[in-house]
Amino acid sequence: MNQHHEDLRATAALFARGLVPGSVRVHGARSLWAERLADGSFRLALASERSESLTGFAGEAHRHGEVIVLRGALGGANLAALRRALPNLSPVPLGPGTSAGFGDRLGLATPGHVDALRAARAEGRVAAIFAQQSMRENARTGRTPQGVLDDATAGAFRAGWRHPVGADADHLKTEADVDLCLDAGYSMFTIDPGAHVHDDADTLRGGALQEAFEQRPPWPALDSSPDDLMARLAGFELDLGERALRFDNEALQRAAVKYGAAVAHVMRLTHHLRAKAGPGRAEVEVSVDETATPTTLAEHAYLALELRRLDVDWVSLAPRFVGAFEKGIDYLGDLAALARDLDGHARVAAALGDYKLSLHSGSDKFAVYPIAAAAAGARVHLKTAGTSYLEALRVAGAAEPGLLHDVVRLGLERFAEDVVSYHIGGRPERVPDPAALPGSALLALLEQRDARQVLHVTFGSALERYGPRLRALLGAHEDAYRDALRRHFERHLAPFVATAAAEATA
Ligand SMILES: [Zn+2]
Repeated sequence: MNQHHEDLRATAALFARGLVPGSVRVHGARSLWAERLADGSFRLALASERSESLTGFAGEAHRHGEVIVLRGALGGANLAALRRALPNLSPVPLGPGTSAGFGDRLGLATPGHVDALRAARAEGRVAAIFAQQSMRENARTGRTPQGVLDDATAGAFRAGWRHPVGADADHLKTEADVDLCLDAGYSMFTIDPGAHVHDDADTLRGGALQEAFEQRPPWPALDSSPDDLMARLAGFELDLGERALRFDNEALQRAAVKYGAAVAHVMRLTHHLRAKAGPGRAEVEVSVDETATPTTLAEHAYLALELRRLDVDWVSLAPRFVGAFEKGIDYLGDLAALARDLDGHARVAAALGDYKLSLHSGSDKFAVYPIAAAAAGARVHLKTAGTSYLEALRVAGAAEPGLLHDVVRLGLERFAEDVVSYHIGGRPERVPDPAALPGSALLALLEQRDARQVLHVTFGSALERYGPRLRALLGAHEDAYRDALRRHFERHLAPFVATAAAEATA
């Protein structure tokens, strides 16, 4: 038999063993690929002529003539070895260009996210973060930062992703959170000082405002004093194109009352991170999106000026925008007002540091994307999370309606308890009666706002009870889940790709 026939036979053998097309990577003296097993799970395979090329990986090795093939788990220590072998899978800071975060509560969505980036022609234009989870989500899903990162690595490898990746440790509130995620290999740290934001500052007047200004901000920690701040920033002006921003005394005092303690908190966590992480290892996002009242442009400027003075560097900032970015549904509010707000924030960011605006709860905001892309250009980070779970429920509802019925019923039961700490308007009493929607007619609920939000916030309860069933179903219908995610996220990405492409050619 000639060489050609032997190659063909070897290739056929690989496919017979479940080789995942598109996963094959040749790196140095070895090839790596994923294999799909009969039960829907995946394993890692490596081949090399030199046994030392396989060290660090655990599994069973067999010799085929000159070549050694090792097959092992696509999990645990093999994923750490995989990140070393294929450096693009090891999270790095992604810098100030357009980026998107794809939170994935099930750990199965990354291949679909990769498909969407490809379909939208976003590769190389929109930087990707596949591992992104907050401590709140970790607590509710029973997952760990390491587990989330490992699932994202496995998914990106299976899908043959060849571009860099970031990993976002989302909504961190303590030094212990920072340490945990740094050890796991995260590259982006979203510091959330929300608990230190005083929303009541918006309504303080006269003497009450003056008193709060003297007492609320932690002045020693800020290395400042009421007099020092007024001397530095009262009367400060910023040219924002069609409008100018000027700190009058009251606006400055209000900003310090509202965000002074938040500045100190961000500084503490960022300095902690910098001391541990070493240079070039991590980037920081500052997020105040989960607070009750919008961040004014003056307050944004105060935050940026003070953080910079205190030697904090950050790559993106998530203000609390006007209107409402609620989970799982489109924007609620006046789009013209939002456009003006986004434009103002983008101009403040451009003037004070050239960092990105981060859109949290960014999934399903189809009315917002063109506006945000027009206002901020390439300086946008789009953060999504729960919507990939809702797409999983859509696949479940089509393949096994009984499972979706169970999840909906449980969600209605658990809503009151699970909604705590979420800012949403959805109400279970407005969800259509599931009993009146037999079989896959229940899929209509995924188009209904209240139902989407009820399902969105009760994911922890649902995964606790039905997680294994849902994961098994998605394993068996992997292509359907990938298709659903590709369609859904292509729509999220398209407006940003258009802007990134236009800026690249400008
Ligand atoms: Zn957020």
